[in-house]
Amino acid sequence: MEKTLNVKYAIIGENYELRENINITIDVEKGLIVNIGTLQRGFTEKPLNISAIAIPSPINAHIHSADFIFSCSGLKLSIEELVKPPHGLKHKLLKKARTKELEKSIMQTLKYLISTGVSTAADFREGGIKGVKLASKSAKKTKFRLIILGRPLKKYNMEKLKKLIKEAHGIGLSSTLSFKPSYLSIVSTLVKGEGKLLAAHVSETKSSYEEGDFEYTLKYYKPSFIVHGTYLRRREFEILAEKKIPLVMCPRANTFFSVGVPQIAEAIKSGTMVSLGTDNAGWILPSIWREVEYAFNLTRLQDRKMAEPKIFFKMITYNAAKTLSLEREGVIDEGMKANITLLKLSPNIVLTKNILASIILRTDRRDVLEVLLEGKPLIKTKLKW
Ligand SMILES: [Zn+2]
Repeated sequence: MEKTLNVKYAIIGENYELRENINITIDVEKGLIVNIGTLQRGFTEKPLNISAIAIPSPINAHIHSADFIFSCSGLKLSIEELVKPPHGLKHKLLKKARTKELEKSIMQTLKYLISTGVSTAADFREGGIKGVKLASKSAKKTKFRLIILGRPLKKYNMEKLKKLIKEAHGIGLSSTLSFKPSYLSIVSTLVKGEGKLLAAHVSETKSSYEEGDFEYTLKYYKPSFIVHGTYLRRREFEILAEKKIPLVMCPRANTFFSVGVPQIAEAIKSGTMVSLGTDNAGWILPSIWREVEYAFNLTRLQDRKMAEPKIFFKMITYNAAKTLSLEREGVIDEGMKANITLLKLSPNIVLTKNILASIILRTDRRDVLEVLLEGKPLIKTKLKW
């Protein structure tokens, strides 16, 4: 079955061009965009006329879903006291929480994510195999696409490690520094053998950077992507660009945890593929709109010339898709997957000299009308708040 969306505006193609009065025809079974046109009427018999802006669905490239219900605890604590495994407050709370509470927490995070108009998020899920299974269960209930990166427990033998990799979409380590080179190499080989994702927090804090976690991670772990890079500078960004290792930056989390200011402008200039994530759902509200606005403004502070709306729109769409190995995504075009978010024609977005800039700087979750993941709606049926 095909359906055509007749929309007022759409952001089309890899150059994110703004087009007016656009028809987007979707093959619902295949979940693909099959035609884009400019006729007054759509291609299918009953085109849907929607007063909306169609954009490629944004992707939140880094979250921790289970701490939503611990929100705002330990406000005066340092990052180590708050979230560092195994003794940080978050890990004590996770250990103490009942399964039902964790399920509720993950579910709230997912519902919130859907309400912000994203179709996908990548979750660094704590708690080994059990933690991964909990997140899978919630994701299935909401139909949201959660990319779950599991974390091996210290006591895991080889069999358990393999099972974890099998259950998850890959591995996401809090830090590679707590593992021996031989162990990292084994994890790397196993994960890559399964064609899955291999990620870690890297150089989030000054101390981890000074301990050499960047070189250590690249040498022994050989990640598919890294997260944070708060302390990375031009030389390291150039290495990432050359080795084609994407970087997920989380500037709001870096500010909240008081670890430092990520050099986003430098990362862009060096050619590193940058995407954005909101990190811990308990301390940073998982809104990709707040994140992209903050990242843009911070970059503007660092180098105004780098504050180009297209670059930032690409971070939360195409770059994030590539980082998570999601092919044919992040762009609305013929042959691409129909992952489309429809935004209302809200005055805060359309009364503007630059719609793309307004989208990244002024969108609110109340402006989100619908999210389609491979042509199927995520919002209307599932959201109660
Ligand atoms: Zn994180």
